[in-house]
Amino acid sequence: MATTPRPRRVLILGGGLSGTLAAAALAPYSDSIDIVERHALPDTPQPRRGLPQARHAHMLWAGGADAIESLLPGTMEMWLRAGAHRVPIPNGMISLSPGGWYRRCWPEAQYLISAGRDLVDWAVRTQALALPGVRLLSGAEPVRLLGTRSRVTGAAIRHGDGTEEVLEADVVIDATGRTSRAPQWLAALGVRAVPETVVDAGVTYASRRYKAPADTAGWPVINVQADARRAGPGTAGTILPIEGDEWLVSLSGTRGAEPTSAEAQFTTFAGTLRSPLIAEYLKRAEPVGPVTVARNTANRRRHYEKARVDGFIALGDSATALNPLYGHGMSAAAQGARALRDVAKDSGIASKGFARRAQRAMARPAAAAWLLAVGQDASFPHATGKKPNLADRLASRYINRLITTACSDFTAVAALTDVMTLQANGTLLVRPRVLLSALRGPRLQPLPGPALTPAEEAVLLGRPVPTSAS
Ligand SMILES: Cc1cc2nc3c(=O)[nH]c(=O)nc-3n(C[C@H](O)[C@H](O)[C@H](O)COP(=O)(O)OP(=O)(O)OC[C@H]3O[C@@H](n4cnc5c(N)ncnc54)[C@H](O)[C@@H]3O)c2cc1C
Repeated sequence: MATTPRPRRVLILGGGLSGTLAAAALAPYSDSIDIVERHALPDTPQPRRGLPQARHAHMLWAGGADAIESLLPGTMEMWLRAGAHRVPIPNGMISLSPGGWYRRCWPEAQYLISAGRDLVDWAVRTQALALPGVRLLSGAEPVRLLGTRSRVTGAAIRHGDGTEEVLEADVVIDATGRTSRAPQWLAALGVRAVPETVVDAGVTYASRRYKAPADTAGWPVINVQADARRAGPGTAGTILPIEGDEWLVSLSGTRGAEPTSAEAQFTTFAGTLRSPLIAEYLKRAEPVGPVTVARNTANRRRHYEKARVDGFIALGDSATALNPLYGHGMSAAAQGARALRDVAKDSGIASKGFARRAQRAMARPAAAAWLLAVGQDASFPHATGKKPNLADRLASRYINRLITTACSDFTAVAALTDVMTLQANGTLLVRPRVLLSALRGPRLQPLPGPALTPAEEAVLLGRPVPTSAS
């Protein structure tokens, strides 16, 4: 007599971006997925508890947006219909790199999605929770993992009313973010601790929303970057055009130059960046909220791909939390979720060693984003963690030359853009044509200032903004 196959069960801890993307990744290959989330998740793109970073500017690079679209087709359309902007790069950015101002005459090499974080998560959540077999347990949290030192088999959950429930699963995915307690939960089962690497440039973020002084459709992302080669701490700032004709403005400083939550100092701090451009724009815009500060921004990597335990996977910030300055957290998580899906497709989630294979595959995009972040951060004064060695310093000199070249050379800017948007890995930067372009160096004089369109200039000068017809 044929036996009915055992249902394949997944348990996801944390219902943020990584948790819902993990559900999307595994829904086709499992019979039931429970997502355990501590807070209520709204049906609309509105602020919620458990996502304080949503008050800060979030760039979603093409590499992340494409991964999300491949997991949940139609998400891009939901974002754009709700007011998100698709910004072409490099032409849609006004960007001061450590090598100078980027030109904007080049064609689109990549793109980014510019939107409030609540909108990004809402579209993903709406799509993922509608998939067959996916169930959200909100107001609940894990108490402990179940299993042995070599295999996790589920978790004990405490619901909002205080009752406990045991949920068995073929695979448990921790997506509870930066504050994950997975190391303690695993230790309680006797699992040997995984190595952890921390590089902390001590970056503090301060952010504020503004009513934009001009239509945000077609408005560029404005970005003034820090220069790790300069003496002293690094400061940076971004204006992100988001839905509702608003700008979300984030300013940041490394240890020794931290912005504060004082509203009166927000524009003053913007004026201390390497260019006063952001401060000048802020003088033309109307603030519509308070200044919010975030300090927990260290790069922290837990190497779960080295864990000797099956049945357990960590995705997103729980495994690899990145300095937000480079905007890679969501994209690395999305690419990790896509890798998870591919391994599930190949071998099935109930196969022996699935979680370990998946975690190894997921470590690749995380490692690529990690190298981009720590390569810069380790050079800031007072950064804690691994200090740059000779190889790091040589690599950093090469990247700086490439960045300077990119201000006037399309080969260099396209290569850097592909890597920054996580559409290509870092080896692209040492391909012969890119090496050659770095060797040749800049082909034109550096721009004396930002390349602004007449409309962008008009806003700066407080003049009527010309329409495309005028
Ligand atoms: C200031 C700042 C700016 C940033 N800017 C960018 C950017 O420009 N681009 C970018 O890609 N990334 C950016 N990031 C990083 C990005 O926010 C994270 O990478 C991303 O949120 C990771 O998603 P996650 O789902 O792994 O974690 P989270 O978004 O933190 O979600 C974790 C979820 O788990 C839930 N949870 C936590 N603990 C428990 C528990 N015990 N039980 C049940 N549920 C629990 C939480 O409520 C939450 O829903 C920024 C981060 C910060 C702090």
